Amino acid sequence: MSQFQAPPLDVSSVLHGGIHHPTLRKWQANGRNLTKSMLIYPIFISDDPDAEQEIATLPGQKRWGINKLEGFLGPLIAKGLKSVILFGVPMQMEKDDRGSAADDPKTPVIQALHLLAKLFPQLMLCVDVCLCEYTSHGHCGILSSLPNPGHSNQPTIEMETSAQRIAEVAIAYAKAGAHCVAPSDMMDGRIRAIKLGLMHAGLANRCALMSYSAKFASGLYGPFRDAAGSAPSFGNRKCYQLPPNARSIARRAIQRDAAEGADILMVKPALPYLDIISDAAQYAPDHPTACYQVSGEYAMVYAGAEKGIYDLKEMAFETTESMVRAGASIILTYFTPQFLDWLDE
Ligand SMILES: [Zn+2]
Repeated sequence: MSQFQAPPLDVSSVLHGGIHHPTLRKWQANGRNLTKSMLIYPIFISDDPDAEQEIATLPGQKRWGINKLEGFLGPLIAKGLKSVILFGVPMQMEKDDRGSAADDPKTPVIQALHLLAKLFPQLMLCVDVCLCEYTSHGHCGILSSLPNPGHSNQPTIEMETSAQRIAEVAIAYAKAGAHCVAPSDMMDGRIRAIKLGLMHAGLANRCALMSYSAKFASGLYGPFRDAAGSAPSFGNRKCYQLPPNARSIARRAIQRDAAEGADILMVKPALPYLDIISDAAQYAPDHPTACYQVSGEYAMVYAGAEKGIYDLKEMAFETTESMVRAGASIILTYFTPQFLDWLDE
């Protein structure tokens, strides 16, 4: 009876030696491990100052009134929270076609910026800049009266007016104390308009500009729209957000925003777009790459864990570590509070 005798392994075949210890496994991360300082926590700010409302589709997340922010954020900062990004949720404010409420002094994010700058001066304050939460039509820019030749139920954007209006709002947030303004509207030309506006206002050296550069028209924004009340009243956003099948135009958007003065470039959503994160890191290597693990991604990870398909913590790590591996050094995630408990540093 002959027994097959495998030849001895070649020296280059043995990999287990390099991953048998937890610290060794961290060292395999190409020098890039997930850390607390990479995280930005998205927060919804309601115009009801005492709000603390659950959001049904976003487990564990709430709409917060400004009177609740100290009690909510204080313990997270003590655990190592470094940065938040604020989203305004105007439940009672009047909406119009130019989103006037976005930079009204009474708007919830402006009030929150003033307050948080005073309460937690070390906390890095980012703020989302868009019009959709504040416009009567729910779109992210100013609409033209001209019909959209592509589809009768789609809007036509007024390009320059939109970029100027977005810049006005961004400057108002910078004046209110934002350390970083982050336009998510996807209007052409808005990065340049904001950068010039910051320069003219004498704020360009005190406020970073994080562009949602490659933001795709994704099906994963549902829980966010529920949280922020920002669903469009007609049509959709496919004529200004990127088509999910597109890689080249995403590269162009990334390179354009780098050239127009963005300090940080973001890809959104994250998990289905790891190739785009990798492109951003490669095509704009001198800019930090951020990505947004959006509401639907978070809800998906949560739902699978609730069904017993996998462990929540394990999958929260696996999804975000894939983003770091792809090239992200900044991650916007609703898992931030859990990561502050799970991570050592
Ligand atoms: Zn928007």
